[in-house]
Amino acid sequence: MTAGKVWLVGAGPGAPDLLTVRALRLLEHADIVFHDALVDPEIVALASCAERIAVGKRCGRHSTAQRFINKRLIDAAHTHQRVVRLKGGDPMLFGRAQEEIDALLVAGIQVEVVPGVTSALAASADMQRSLTARGISRSVTFVTPRVGAGEDRSNWVRAAVAADTAVIYMASHEAAAIGAALIAHGMAPGTPAAIVEGASLSGQRQVLPVTLATLGAAGARLLGGPALIVVGENFRALAEQAVVPDSATASRRRA
Ligand code: SAH
Repeated sequence: MTAGKVWLVGAGPGAPDLLTVRALRLLEHADIVFHDALVDPEIVALASCAERIAVGKRCGRHSTAQRFINKRLIDAAHTHQRVVRLKGGDPMLFGRAQEEIDALLVAGIQVEVVPGVTSALAASADMQRSLTARGISRSVTFVTPRVGAGEDRSNWVRAAVAADTAVIYMASHEAAAIGAALIAHGMAPGTPAAIVEGASLSGQRQVLPVTLATLGAAGARLLGGPALIVVGENFRALAEQAVVPDSATASRRRA
């Protein structure tokens, strides 16, 4: 038997109906699926004929674990024809896709990438605030302060300050420090910001409009789901907009 092929597939931000048609077809025909812990079980269940294996920690995977995942993908391609590696959002943004692609290509395995809706775009949709806006924002940056063990410090602050709109991944647990760092690098404390938790996930979604000075207060109100910080003048109207958390979220909180 010749080696199988591996598809790196974006699962989108969470809502199962934000999966692409191509992703759905691949899941339905997959022999084996390796999925991130962050991917919604309802999406994983669409691969009803496949062996389904959770890999990776929810966040902050270290390189040993990543090497182990690379090896499992290569091994799976030698025993299965259709291997799907399912990742949250888009695989090519903060998804460690490059390490997997490189390892598979070195091993002589065919790879194809299927894009997904990244969480920044789902957050923008939930806020009803465009990431770009005529006369206000002509540049968007996707950054993360998170670095792996032994890596250089992230230059995220420089990038965020330089852009009109910044979307900060993997940082909501340190919201106060993020606000303070941006202020220390010259941004006005009153610059509009927001934390969007559970983007696209009805029932777990909340949009918390703040400013850089009050980011920490929003961080304290998070419910433990995945969350993004957005910063930029374009979010000023959010504070005035009535952004009501989903009723399901409110009842879950009361429960
Ligand atoms: N490849 C993914 C990002 C993986 S990094 C993508 O394209 O979206 C994981 C981070 O993504 C989380 O720490 C959080 O900052 C963000 N994230 C993922 N899903 C999210 C969601 N539904 N709502 C808000 N942020 C989310």
